Amino acid sequence: MSMRDFGGIVERSPARDVRPASAREVVSAVREAAAQGLDAVPRGAGHSAGGQSLTTGVSLDLRGLAGVTEVGERHAAAGAGTTWREVLAATLPLGLTPPVLTDYLDVTVGGTVSTGGVGGTSLLHGTQADNVLALDVVAGGELVTCSPAVRPGLFDAVRGGLGGHGVITGATLRLVPAPERVLACTVPCRDAADLLRVLRGVRAEYAAGQVVPADGGWRFEAKAVLYGDEGEPPPGTAETERLGYLDFADRMRPDVAELIAAGEWARPHPWGTVFLPASRAAAVIESTLAGMTAADLGLSGVIVVKPLRAGPLPRPPLPDDPVLFGVLRTASPGCATVPEMLAANRALLDRARAAGGTRYPIDSTG
Ligand SMILES: Cc1cc2nc3c(=O)[nH]c(=O)nc-3n(C[C@H](O)[C@H](O)[C@H](O)COP(=O)(O)OP(=O)(O)OC[C@H]3O[C@@H](n4cnc5c(N)ncnc54)[C@H](O)[C@@H]3O)c2cc1C
Repeated sequence: MSMRDFGGIVERSPARDVRPASAREVVSAVREAAAQGLDAVPRGAGHSAGGQSLTTGVSLDLRGLAGVTEVGERHAAAGAGTTWREVLAATLPLGLTPPVLTDYLDVTVGGTVSTGGVGGTSLLHGTQADNVLALDVVAGGELVTCSPAVRPGLFDAVRGGLGGHGVITGATLRLVPAPERVLACTVPCRDAADLLRVLRGVRAEYAAGQVVPADGGWRFEAKAVLYGDEGEPPPGTAETERLGYLDFADRMRPDVAELIAAGEWARPHPWGTVFLPASRAAAVIESTLAGMTAADLGLSGVIVVKPLRAGPLPRPPLPDDPVLFGVLRTASPGCATVPEMLAANRALLDRARAAGGTRYPIDSTG
């Protein structure tokens, strides 16, 4: 049976599709694949966009290893197939949250630790992969634990390693106190430089930007989210909204329901995502947008801008003061075609590399 991912562009027929129910079954499946000379490729929710979770060998569906097994004072232990929604459901009743969450909660711990996992709080906390305390990994046909103190080489290789250095079966995640409420502030910005100035300077726990088609051009908007009830909206705030923390964390849910109903969720998603050095980011963003129309983004496409704290993850090493720039295209009817969108992603990656940037390997650029 052929399989696709969220990108919907790459298709592969695995020789076998295995769904282990325990770490021990992962060990057996990996050993068996090796004995047959087949690749064993782990798959979480399959929400990467360029075939990263697909194989013609053995597809290891990790969602059978879901569940939070322990929540401590500042950590939680979870199976690799646990979604971040399930992690939050277990930690929030204790007033705790992972410090970094993806915009969409229905991706897995194993999947985002293997890619990076960038959120609006990444300027303070780095990636989700930076906030893992220990991992259980099947590597070299054995189940082992690794952490900064034990097998640090394996720990570093597996985080951001796209499944190439071992299969994560479980993770111990860092937790921080969760606010009960947040104040979400929208700050309109003049251009990309202004957006980056606001995002990098704002005193808020969460800072992320969007670029939205408007009047034949583009509108720039920063979202600064203050945790708790105390903070003052940043200068230039045009709108504020007070939300419970879970509603904020799960803010994509109503949009996803609409996209599913409209058929947009199932269309191909030729996503292009790069990390840019902050010093060159505005120029790359502006030159990308100058050659683009709304039809190049698709009806439900989104452009995101997220500054993050420099760290070793994801790989290859990030530029100084990195900024994630994601052109998350949907190949909607009447818009640019998949090949045209993929070509535009390659041009974006070339532009990013020329500026000292690098690719975020969750996308469809190849
Ligand atoms: C709507 C939407 C919103 C998103 N928002 C964000 C966001 O805000 N920030 C962000 O950073 N990303 C975001 N992403 C991208 C997403 O985080 C990545 O694509 C992530 O890899 C998806 O996790 P997954 O469980 O679907 O992994 P998969 O796509 O299944 O796998 C991704 C990679 O990890 C490997 N892998 C999976 N599980 C394991 C494991 N247990 N052990 C070892 N390797 C493994 C796979 O082989 C593959 O190479 C978003 C994606 C979507 C569709």
